[in-house]
Amino acid sequence: MIPKPRSTFLSVQCPKCGEKAVVFSHTTADIVCKSCGEMLAQKSGSKALILGKILSALDQ
Ligand SMILES: [Zn+2]
Repeated sequence: MIPKPRSTFLSVQCPKCGEKAVVFSHTTADIVCKSCGEMLAQKSGSKALILGKILSALDQ
């Protein structure tokens, strides 16, 4: 049995400048740091590739 992928919002910290951002785990767009432009999440077929440091998952 395959578990259903659960989409969540993640609190991600930029590895470069420390700025925090909220990223949807299944984002369909690349997410870049608002402060320095570092890529924080990269879209993929299903679950996004999180490149920043995941601080926590936010419940909806
Ligand atoms: Zn940054």
